Amino acid sequence: MHVAVLGAGTMGHGIAQVAAMAGHEVVIRDVKPEFVQDGIDSIEENLEGGVEREELSREAADATLSRIDGTTHLAEAVETADLVIEAVPEDLELKRDTLEDVEELVDEDAIIATNTSSLSVTEIASSADHAGRVIGLHFFNPVHIMELVEIVVAEQTDEVTVARAHEFVEEIDKTAIEVTDTPGFASSRLGVALGVEAMRMVEEGVAAPRDIDTAMELGYNHPMGPIELGDVVGLDVRLDILEYLREELGERFRPPQVLKRKVRAGKLGRKTGEGFYVWEDGEIVGVSGDGNGGVGDER
Ligand code: NAD
Repeated sequence: MHVAVLGAGTMGHGIAQVAAMAGHEVVIRDVKPEFVQDGIDSIEENLEGGVEREELSREAADATLSRIDGTTHLAEAVETADLVIEAVPEDLELKRDTLEDVEELVDEDAIIATNTSSLSVTEIASSADHAGRVIGLHFFNPVHIMELVEIVVAEQTDEVTVARAHEFVEEIDKTAIEVTDTPGFASSRLGVALGVEAMRMVEEGVAAPRDIDTAMELGYNHPMGPIELGDVVGLDVRLDILEYLREELGERFRPPQVLKRKVRAGKLGRKTGEGFYVWEDGEIVGVSGDGNGGVGDER
């Protein structure tokens, strides 16, 4: 099968890699040659890592790379594609424009998937002439490691498209769950619900962040507790998603004050060196503020 991946960033290069590893011919498209090259370099690095860890043979790595082409020309990427997956930035208008441009160039029976993590797939699809072929394929970062793909079925998506999406996810050796297009799909909605309650517990002084995280890590076998995960994802990203889910689904997603204060103070988590925890070189070295996640220190 021919797969076109639009956007060679964090998600795009990973999607291109897993598609090529499954034996598909892949073309990856970005807006500048250097972005395309960066994406291909990242794939090469991932594959090299796999060879070094002896999870992948040299032959398999070389064969994967040989199946990946890069371009800045949309037509070159999508003209022969059976499946187009867009991983351009999270902007509704950009995604709708991209879909319209793709539709003018692809075969009639090509499937068009969006990797949006939060936008309405139904709203993206509504810009298409043949919206039945539009579907969400929500991958997780890093794509070559994470096993889950959420198949997001829009109001317009037809059955053939859903079936082909399942086939593709199976081919790339990932596990699919099928979700009706609703805000936060299944994964973000549940993950964020846990995260927001954990932050409220910090705010109410129920327990310190480390103890809340340990409760979920040791009591529920989560690989990482919800407070630490918020710091890793970025508290600004968490806040944006919460505001959107509150608007769509109601007050249970109201962002806690402690989160708003941290974001206003530029304490965005691991990427800025401080969130609920203090971070150095990507590792937690302490707890922010007065030991309870900064409840008191920013008032
Ligand atoms: P990114 O910024 O790393 O990459 C986006 C790439 O798209 C950039 O290289 C940019 O130059 C390119 N681009 C912009 N306009 C383009 C166009 N018209 N055609 C082709 N390429 C174009 O972003 P990302 O993190 O890879 O996110 C991409 C999508 O995946 C977003 O919708 C995001 O919500 C979703 N997503 C992200 C994650 C994550 O953890 N980063 C997880 C799941 C889903």
